[in-house]
Amino acid sequence: MVTAAKTNLFGLAPSAMRAFFVGMGEKPFRAAQVLQWIHHYGADSFDSMTNISRPLRQRLAEVAEIMAPEIVLDQEAADGTRKWLLRLADGNCIETVFIPEEGRGTLCVSSQVGCTLNCSFCATGHQGFNRNLEAAEIIAQLWVANRALGRDPRGERLITNVVMMGMGEPLLNFDNVIAAMQLMLDDMAYGLSRRRVTLSTAGVVPAIDRLRDTCHVSLAVSLHAPNDALRDRLVPLNRKYPIAELLDACRRYVAGDGGRRVTFEYVMLAGVNDSIGQARELVGLLSDVPSKVNLIPFNPFPEGVYERSQRAAIDRFRDVLMNAGLMTVTRKTRGDDIDAACGQLAGRIEDRTRRSLRTRQGSVSQP
Ligand code: SAH
Repeated sequence: MVTAAKTNLFGLAPSAMRAFFVGMGEKPFRAAQVLQWIHHYGADSFDSMTNISRPLRQRLAEVAEIMAPEIVLDQEAADGTRKWLLRLADGNCIETVFIPEEGRGTLCVSSQVGCTLNCSFCATGHQGFNRNLEAAEIIAQLWVANRALGRDPRGERLITNVVMMGMGEPLLNFDNVIAAMQLMLDDMAYGLSRRRVTLSTAGVVPAIDRLRDTCHVSLAVSLHAPNDALRDRLVPLNRKYPIAELLDACRRYVAGDGGRRVTFEYVMLAGVNDSIGQARELVGLLSDVPSKVNLIPFNPFPEGVYERSQRAAIDRFRDVLMNAGLMTVTRKTRGDDIDAACGQLAGRIEDRTRRSLRTRQGSVSQP
């Protein structure tokens, strides 16, 4: 006898959870109860759901499951950064990183198994692409990390912020990322404010507008270059959506939203994009976009061809931006002793694009 696949309740955003219960002939408020059990209390079995009758729990166990990925590696860096390698049902592995800071804790969440964009300075890009993560696999990263971290002495959660800055391009996995972010924002699940959830994109322009209309979280854009000629080489997606179109989408994203700014990420690559002239060009570019700039010292990885800018070069670059009135922060390098820093996440994936193979053979064109 063939049994129907069980629904993994992790993947159901609040509206889908209500539809699920109504479909079972149950009252919609059951959705709120189950969301709370799973996401608030970290339950992974129906037995613990004591405000739900035993017969309903039994019916639930027949048609549904709460299936989290398995933790294969749990590493802690000298600076307290923690990284989990999670094995998915199909054997692929993805990474999730927790970054503790004074007064807040940020979880860096992956959205795809690998990435299709092939940015030349990024480890994930070099390993190729396998598939999109399901909504369940995205939100489960938050669930796993919350369970592993426990609560602080006041009973509060350690994760106060989420950034969709792990492996993958979140806007190329739009529906699943939205469903997961709706759970992050929902009071019955994680209850984070939309300002504490940040989606980072390499610049999928049409999807930026869709994001504004469906789930208006904080936006970060991986810019990395002040002109199209250089950005075409660093972020190949730029050939499809050049800088002018990208910045227009950014302006639309924050228009009328109470002084919100777009965060522009700029990875500092020695001798490539870190000159004073390029800093001035960047100032000109961002002069009429409500923005903050995050300078990210390049983090090396085995197949990488770049070098990190010297500290002095980063400081000079920052000073040009700051003197022009641009809010600028140099991101601290966190967790690099366990390869958990920006651009170092690689998981263990089966590459279906065969890009990783070509990279190893040296036939991928490098800038
Ligand atoms: N695809 C999305 C989400 C990934 S975010 C995006 O491009 O925004 C990961 C961030 O780390 C991006 O800003 C990315 O450009 C940056 N990054 C990638 N490789 C890096 C490296 N080797 N060193 C430092 N930052 C890197």
